[in-house]
Amino acid sequence: MKLKIPDYVLDIDPYVPGKPIEELEREYGIGDSIKLASNENPLGPSPKAVEAIGRQIAGLHRYPDGAGHVLLNKLAAKLDVSPEQIVMGNGSDDILGLLSRALLQPGDEAIIPVPSFLMYRIVTQSAGAVPVQIPLRDMGIDLEEILRRVTPRTRLIFICNPNNPTGTMVTQDALKSLLEALPPEVLVVLDEAYIEFVRDPRCAQGLSFLDGEPTVVTLRTFSKIYGLAGLRVGYGVMPKMLAQLLNRIRMPFNVNSLAQAAAVAALDDREFFEKTTALVHDGLDFLFAELEKRGLRCFPTQTNFFLIDMQHDAKVVFERFLRQGVIVRAMNAYGFPKYIRINVGLPEENRRFLGALDQVMAGL
Ligand code: PMP
Repeated sequence: MKLKIPDYVLDIDPYVPGKPIEELEREYGIGDSIKLASNENPLGPSPKAVEAIGRQIAGLHRYPDGAGHVLLNKLAAKLDVSPEQIVMGNGSDDILGLLSRALLQPGDEAIIPVPSFLMYRIVTQSAGAVPVQIPLRDMGIDLEEILRRVTPRTRLIFICNPNNPTGTMVTQDALKSLLEALPPEVLVVLDEAYIEFVRDPRCAQGLSFLDGEPTVVTLRTFSKIYGLAGLRVGYGVMPKMLAQLLNRIRMPFNVNSLAQAAAVAALDDREFFEKTTALVHDGLDFLFAELEKRGLRCFPTQTNFFLIDMQHDAKVVFERFLRQGVIVRAMNAYGFPKYIRINVGLPEENRRFLGALDQVMAGL
């Protein structure tokens, strides 16, 4: 190939998503497996969203509403912001890409806690910018160290709250102190993909910093609480000026018509929302009690997933679980070579996980 590819693109380690269930079943010759590896909603999609998709299908020959009028207005009313302060994305991933393209130039710096969501590093490197990686402290995001590492080249700071994969949160007070100390030209991205699962009232709320300085962008997704990961809908809430800028570089039809209709309907699906949070919280309490009985260390979480210290190579543990038809996530790539991450499943899936766990532990 004679192409001149920038070194910063060649340097990117690809994102490795959890494999689809069908592929793993084929690979390992197993059936009837359960997947607890991608923090998905075990209840399936919001039923109201599914109905809305049914109604929308007849209009598939039309382009979607490129401005996402209905969706943005609905979100704005719900969040008590202006529709002009919202940018819709093909998943919240898409907004991460837009932010990096709008704000980063080669040589700029983006501060990224590690381990955290791996896409922050990828979007930073895609723009030729430098990921400044800050290790977690006591499993939480180290805001003091973040502040120390700000330089005149810092453009973005990514804060996943609560954090994937640790489940820890940043408090409102701690975030407020960080924002007060940051220079106004730095943009803070607060990724709230799991915010609906938080039980601790001290948790930071990105939206409360909208329109202040420095600029805060809050990212949310329909992939988790509304069970629409396969449709790809997310959004960012930000000052109007910045939203206008991102909309200039956004692909006009980045959120398809089925996804828009489903997202609008999901926002009205209060019953599904409540059912999901109750299922997750009950599941967490059940699993934590059961894991404690087994003497396994697991990490408190504000999300629908958590880490377990298996005290053995997580890749081996992952394989053993697979043979029991249970798909978990090995955390080797996140710097936790002995931890696995699981999300809460349906009650029967949680019990099946525990059964598999007993088998796996007996064999280690
Ligand atoms: N942020 C975090 C922290 C995530 O865990 C995920 C999904 N794994 C995303 C963003 C991306 O969500 P979406 O499906 O909306 O792109």
